[in-house]
Amino acid sequence: MLHYHTVPVTPFQQNCSLLWCDQTLAAAVIDPGGDLDDILAEAQRLGLAFQQIWLTHAHIDHAGAAGEMAQRLGLPIVGPHPGDQFWIDALAQQSQMFGFPPARPFTPTRWLHDGDTVTLGHSTLQVRHCPGHTPGHVVFYAPEIRRAFVGDVLFAGSIGRTDFPQGDHAQLVASIRERLWPMGDDTVFIPGHGPESSFGRERRSNPFVGDRV
Ligand SMILES: [Zn+2]
Ligand SMILES: [Zn+2]
Repeated sequence: MLHYHTVPVTPFQQNCSLLWCDQTLAAAVIDPGGDLDDILAEAQRLGLAFQQIWLTHAHIDHAGAAGEMAQRLGLPIVGPHPGDQFWIDALAQQSQMFGFPPARPFTPTRWLHDGDTVTLGHSTLQVRHCPGHTPGHVVFYAPEIRRAFVGDVLFAGSIGRTDFPQGDHAQLVASIRERLWPMGDDTVFIPGHGPESSFGRERRSNPFVGDRV
């Protein structure tokens, strides 16, 4: 059975999630944007052994500590989709612009594409490509626990910004409706920032992508 625990990191309070298989304690981290010592302390408290780093997209608050963590722990970096290569190339500029500690550059061990799967212990998650906030944004869907880790695609009551280079509002809305909604109304999502919600609740009430918009 898959479990998760979310740790807000960086001044942007980005929801970094620790996921693990309770039979093996094999763990992955989604979006280690910063505050690596806090992430490692949580993992130690929970008795987890990290095996992989998974990235939804390459904005600094999500990917800022990925390179350092990969190097320190000898871990593979999985994701995002190759559309975010230019954001990875710009990590140094991003850290300067937002006053983050310098991000260690990295090359993903494995790029992700729509329909891929990632495996952790006895659990498998599905990968969906959801461009719009960034062109290479992916989300991780765990059908077994009806949870989706959606980064900055969708928030409780809002959607991701699209005013960055290669952001695209219409594409983001299409990603949400065509690739998230089919996961089911009762699926709970963990957004990159702020509280969890369910797809059903957002379909009823989200002012940007609700069914009545
Ligand atoms: Zn972002
Ligand atoms: Zn973010």
